[in-house]
Amino acid sequence: MYPVTCYYPKLYDTLVHHNADKTITYQLDQIEKTKWLYYKLKTSPNYDTQVVNSSDDSVLNLCHSSKYLNSLKTGKPQPLAETSGLIWQKNLYPAHVNSVWSSIKSSISALNKNISMTLTSGGHHAVADRGYGFNPINTIALTTKYLLTNKIINNIAILDLDVHLGNGTIELLQHTSNIHIFDIYRYTKPEWITRLPSTLPDNIRVYQTDSTNQYFKQLESYLAQIKKLNPGLVIYHHGVDVYKNDRYGGILKFSEEKIHLRERLLLKSLYRHVPIMIILGGGYVKYDNPSLTTSRKKHPPPPPHHLL
Ligand SMILES: [Zn+2]
Repeated sequence: MYPVTCYYPKLYDTLVHHNADKTITYQLDQIEKTKWLYYKLKTSPNYDTQVVNSSDDSVLNLCHSSKYLNSLKTGKPQPLAETSGLIWQKNLYPAHVNSVWSSIKSSISALNKNISMTLTSGGHHAVADRGYGFNPINTIALTTKYLLTNKIINNIAILDLDVHLGNGTIELLQHTSNIHIFDIYRYTKPEWITRLPSTLPDNIRVYQTDSTNQYFKQLESYLAQIKKLNPGLVIYHHGVDVYKNDRYGGILKFSEEKIHLRERLLLKSLYRHVPIMIILGGGYVKYDNPSLTTSRKKHPPPPPHHLL
């Protein structure tokens, strides 16, 4: 299993955000988390970290409209460029191009080495013509489209265990029959699901629960179904916002131990049977926990720095 290769998008760690009256600039948890993980894994003998930098943005057209992509590139019109909630900045577009390539390279690595990881956000809320939930680009959907279009594999399962519904991934991939989505979630928002059909096609399985016991029963069922499907790759959107004390999520009784149990179950069931590509989902610290958060509390924070 080791070393696991981890792909990290260049410029991603430069992305900042600010509060409504623009008096405080900080980094969102998803950026801070990936940066922290990158530096931690970089020094571990169990992980091989690769920084990805690419100017090839053609891949983004596989799922997103040119009008929307142009707004992300130029910042104009600003309301469209900022539909995800994240402020527009000049590195927004190139950082997300690098994110998608990190995810594609990671998927290809998983095909050869059984498992691989992408240190970036899966972007599961973003749809074709706008972002949602601080996700400007749907990295998961773009990765699957790239792998299928280029005939690298012909059958993919997506296991989305972020505590929020992966509405964007479902909306973008619901008509692609050789993609199977398995999504266990607790939270959704009316605006995320307005364009989804009331009855989803058979290749999309979603399960909503606020019970940790039900969660694990459903997970075991989904893992068995994935194994039976025997896809060429499983993309595991690994949200830790199921954690009981998460700021934006949480399921009652979902302890740290339960998160470890979830990962062990997944590996036990799928590792060496199906190639696994892990991509990061949500996970949000509470501001009153001094051991877990840094930049949000700093005023002003240190300037972001480039990698390499
Ligand atoms: Zn989430």
